[in-house]
Amino acid sequence: MVEMETIVSLCKRRGFIFPSSEIYGGFNSCWDYGPLGVELKNNVKRAWWKAVVQMRDDMVGLDGSILMHPKVWEASGHVANFSDPMVDCRACKLRFRADQVDPNEKCVETKGPHDLTESRQFNMMFRTHVGPVEDGAAVAYLRPETAQAIFVNFSNVQNTMRKKLPFGVAQIGKAFRNEITPGNFTFRTREFEQMEIEFFVKPGTDDEWHQQWIDARRQWYLDLGMKKENLQLREHEQDELAHYARRCVDIEYSFPIGWSELEGIANRTDFDLKQHTEFSGKDLTWFDPETNEHVMPCVIEPSAGADRATLAFLVDAYDEEVVRDRQRVVLRLHKDLAPNKVAVLPLLRNRPEIVDLARKIAGDLRPSMACMYDDTASIGKLYRRQDEIGTLYCVTVDVDSLTDHAVTIRERDSMEQVRVPVEAVVRTLKEKILG
Ligand SMILES: [Zn+2]
Repeated sequence: MVEMETIVSLCKRRGFIFPSSEIYGGFNSCWDYGPLGVELKNNVKRAWWKAVVQMRDDMVGLDGSILMHPKVWEASGHVANFSDPMVDCRACKLRFRADQVDPNEKCVETKGPHDLTESRQFNMMFRTHVGPVEDGAAVAYLRPETAQAIFVNFSNVQNTMRKKLPFGVAQIGKAFRNEITPGNFTFRTREFEQMEIEFFVKPGTDDEWHQQWIDARRQWYLDLGMKKENLQLREHEQDELAHYARRCVDIEYSFPIGWSELEGIANRTDFDLKQHTEFSGKDLTWFDPETNEHVMPCVIEPSAGADRATLAFLVDAYDEEVVRDRQRVVLRLHKDLAPNKVAVLPLLRNRPEIVDLARKIAGDLRPSMACMYDDTASIGKLYRRQDEIGTLYCVTVDVDSLTDHAVTIRERDSMEQVRVPVEAVVRTLKEKILG
């Protein structure tokens, strides 16, 4: 298993993920996705959207706003319950979760135990003020989850799209939680991106749909190349279930920090729509034309993190091997996820005919796939650089290319090389990568 430090270092060195505001010393477990990271994360989100929206007849999408009516968070229970009991040390000013204080830990100020306050409830929602007046009436929250935008739009979506139960709504977007202990790279951060589904079903069919979604979501990670032995399902114990949840199963990944949640799939019963019906006074039931009855739909919620999924795919793809006495690092990313699909490399950068041909091939590939041109080092170094960022194929233009009008295509994992006529490069690579 690769160490987290190795992944952090690769991400920094190769332009996947940088510490946020790094020139000012970084900021509070915030991270910025660099040129390759944004491509990788976009590919993860695109693969998710394709699987859960594009490929299904019973799903549609939504993009809700981050700021919502404050009543939403009263109805959802976040104002009252989304908090942890916290204690502060009067001496060193550190804050701890009341149930997680280590009695053996020495305070840097008292040199003995921390001088702790009584515990207080600390709400994890970020508060802000909307408009020019900073009074109580203008208080709003940055959403702590994307799910609520789907619940409050239930009728809008159902009516405009003429959907019958069962159907679901998918959404990708930022959410914010003022976590006390963020950390472990991008695993736990205060600002993060969710990929959430709320799937509405008739009461009585919820158990069956729950199981279907658990299976479908696990399969999604496997289809994108994640190793089976690095995934497991964990059933929540009765005492860790939210009071409204009937059952919850986590898909866990074997991260360098140990088995941890990648995605949670919960049966939330009819709690959410019931709450919003009560708080808004609007009827959020669905009229069943077959039975002539109004039913309050039950909700199955597969909730995944785009940042966690991206991190897990990076960890899973990381590989080191020795080839002809030389160590190489290779990211064996699935072809749909690799941030860069092809690199075109001229063997000699001081031969204008070779450079021109390489640049032309790169230009021909760009409309179909992410393609990089690179002539900044020797060919051996260029290959290693591309292996480290998971590029699927390298196209090398050499001196012979000028007479035989062919180039070498090298495959990332096997490092096998084939000679292909210049005019067949785009077709060959499209078949391999998009086909
Ligand atoms: Zn202290």
